[in-house]
Amino acid sequence: MNSSISRRQFLGTTAAAVTVAAVSPTVLRGSTDTPALLGGTPVRRQPFPSWPKYSEREERALLDVLHSGKWFRGDGSKVDQFESAYAQLTGARYCIATANGTSALIASLAALEVGPGDEVILPPYTFVATLNVVFLQYAVPVFVDTDPETFQIDARKVEAAITARTKAILPVHIGGSAADLDTLVSVGKRHKLPVIEDACQAHLAEWRGRKVGTLGDTGCFSFQASKNLNSGEGGAILTHDEALADKCCAFHNHNRARSGAGRHGRLADPARTSNLRLTEFQAGLLLAQMTRLEVQSRTRDQNAQSLSGMLREIPGIVPARLHDGCTRCAWHLYMFRYQKEQFAGLDRAKFLRALHAEGVPASGGYGPMNKDAFITETFRSRAYQRLYPPAELAGWAERNQCPENDRLCQEAVWFTQPMLLGTRSDMDDIVAAIRKIQAHAGELARS
Ligand SMILES: *Cc1c(COP(=O)(O)O)cnc(C)c1O
Repeated sequence: MNSSISRRQFLGTTAAAVTVAAVSPTVLRGSTDTPALLGGTPVRRQPFPSWPKYSEREERALLDVLHSGKWFRGDGSKVDQFESAYAQLTGARYCIATANGTSALIASLAALEVGPGDEVILPPYTFVATLNVVFLQYAVPVFVDTDPETFQIDARKVEAAITARTKAILPVHIGGSAADLDTLVSVGKRHKLPVIEDACQAHLAEWRGRKVGTLGDTGCFSFQASKNLNSGEGGAILTHDEALADKCCAFHNHNRARSGAGRHGRLADPARTSNLRLTEFQAGLLLAQMTRLEVQSRTRDQNAQSLSGMLREIPGIVPARLHDGCTRCAWHLYMFRYQKEQFAGLDRAKFLRALHAEGVPASGGYGPMNKDAFITETFRSRAYQRLYPPAELAGWAERNQCPENDRLCQEAVWFTQPMLLGTRSDMDDIVAAIRKIQAHAGELARS
């Protein structure tokens, strides 16, 4: 035991010495300066890259639709074109464009007939939309704890959460990395449960060379303004299953069958439909933005890889690990764990403020959603009180504890995707700012 610790310490020391020799001078610059939060000079004054990126290409795309007078998908052809292009890009057989990512999820759940009395398995470490869509169907969310190393749903714990009432598994590829799709898909198959991939942050991400969003029964994407592919609002559903594609399509368009599809693919419950259509303007914009997606994704990947290489050398900074099967990451978020013990006890909130002051914006990310008061409020609502026995609702919180996720929510730090669109020297600045804070962590903690 003792010898293993000393070996690790030895390796740690050696690695640190190698790093000091290898890092560029800019990374070490500032370690001796006063932190900006305490009145010193910030590591960086220029902003990180802005978002979105556009040019005359987007202008032309929007004006083309404007002047055509065909602003609705029923009149024009841009939405159809986008659906074909996105299906081709991802290797999916079918793509249905929707008003946003939330409606892609809603249509998937509705098409798979998730409803009152059903349970849906999902991770707590996600944007609230993943949970909201479960409540919208009057179903019960069942949270499976997060794997703190990858920030993804701990797929090894999914099977234990399945009951006779489970109706779907709804994993999220959080941050644009991939959840463990090998395990999730095989558990789904074994229990005959559909897997709905929430790929709203994971454009172009891959699992063993296949695009995420194409391995589950449906894959849902968002093109909301912050996402890596953006039309302000927008979304899409991918699937290989023709009948499911028809049902999703019917749901998003007032239970109307797709042209050429006859009566086929209508929903069993015709009351459960909506209008969740994308406009021709959004589709035109998406087709233009898509021409940038590959290059932008490669830039993010290169920057994220070099950032990870440098951050891994800093004690107390633990970048989110990618699953071995994740052969491409979309880097919608750059996520790491901040361990304050290695920063003289400097708490995360102050670390974030100190980073901001150095010119590096960062956030602490999601809170523990499974503990949010609005869940209890939902269970007190008239519908849930009518649908579920009081004992079940009362026992929900106990059954849905996620201790790993609780800890992760206290340690996580995020950078947003546009920060990865800059240069290698932008990454050096991030590292320099963190090293500077670490060098002065004691002073900062006491200030
Ligand atoms: C953005 C997002 C959604 C919702 O997408 P909208 O287009 O904003 O409706 C759902 N899930 C996750 C994980 C997201 O990041």
